Amino acid sequence: MRVAVFSAKLYDKTSLHDADRDGAHELSFLEPRLNRDTAALAEGCEAVCAFVNDELDAETLAVLAEHGVRFVALRSAGFNHVDLRAAAETGIAVARVPDYSPYAVAEHCAALVLALNRKTHRAYNRIREHNFALTGLLGFDLHGRTVGVIGTGKIGLCFARIMTGFGCRVLAYDPYPSDAAREAGVEYVSLDELLAASDIVSLHCPLTPETFHLIGRERIALMRPGTMLVNTSRGALVDTAAVVEGLKSGRIGHLGLDVYEEEAGLFFEDLSDQVIGDDAFDRLNAFPNVLITGHQAFFTAEAIEAIAATTIANLTAFEVDGIGLHPVSIGESPELEPSSTVPSTS
Ligand code: NAD
Repeated sequence: MRVAVFSAKLYDKTSLHDADRDGAHELSFLEPRLNRDTAALAEGCEAVCAFVNDELDAETLAVLAEHGVRFVALRSAGFNHVDLRAAAETGIAVARVPDYSPYAVAEHCAALVLALNRKTHRAYNRIREHNFALTGLLGFDLHGRTVGVIGTGKIGLCFARIMTGFGCRVLAYDPYPSDAAREAGVEYVSLDELLAASDIVSLHCPLTPETFHLIGRERIALMRPGTMLVNTSRGALVDTAAVVEGLKSGRIGHLGLDVYEEEAGLFFEDLSDQVIGDDAFDRLNAFPNVLITGHQAFFTAEAIEAIAATTIANLTAFEVDGIGLHPVSIGESPELEPSSTVPSTS
């Protein structure tokens, strides 16, 4: 099948070619992000392969359909950037990579917690300048602290297990509680209780219209003073302006972000020679107790290999059976029912 691979980086090219060892698909690698303006680049392809910051809204899908595209293979677990209703209406099938390495994301999340707590990012810079003073680097023992996990699916459960390993008490909120999490020692509570009791709050739920700005002014007000907030899930789960206020007031004591609600156009690009016109991002970056990584939590060798293997399997399954191996469609299950793309580009 001819496939246009959008937002393609060198590692996509390498890993997808390795996974498609037999050359079953004709992969055409395109650097631009997929959106309504670039969709015509898929001319002549039956499928497109898209990543997290590609915009698969109704207009983009219409252009794709017009150019003969019948299948979207997402190289991600999240599908908040796809208008599933419009895809169904235009006859375009969608599939994703539901499970590649929850360890990759959970371990990165733990890395953010550890670095923020012990100020590793600041210590690294100080030592390079021969500043060996410890002032400002005071951390706290994780042992005995309370961690609140919002969403105990594959990644949340993995993160909960890591934190229980540190001797933390783990509270969780999820509309669909899991026995595996309970067996791992997780205590389910209401969202408000979790926010009021946790020293560290970590987000692991999908972005849907219901979870858009899940962490906003009102919920930040429920948090304990000095709470550490970590988001490795999707940027728009967090209201950036509210979080900036929370950091200024000290209600949020540390902030770790791997995702950002306006990350499209910033993350995955080298913009080191450019002025960034996003004041909110620069404001966040200016806090010493904020640590941002550019959507790299998934980025391990194991995860990249698994993403490529599942993507090729989705393409092959669609070519053979007319449906991807891991289809995503409206109505599949309650948690897979975003009524439309959420008002975010992440
Ligand atoms: P998953 O589907 O296994 O788990 C998601 C969990 O969230 C489910 O248990 C679900 O019941 C729960 N949930 C749904 N709505 C909720 C709500 N309103 N409040 C609390 N919980 C809710 O997904 P996963 O594989 O664990 O991935 C979680 C998220 O991580 C994905 O949606 C994706 O956005 C993000 N992610 C980020 C990266 C990265 O590189 N930063 C990589 C992969 C996934």
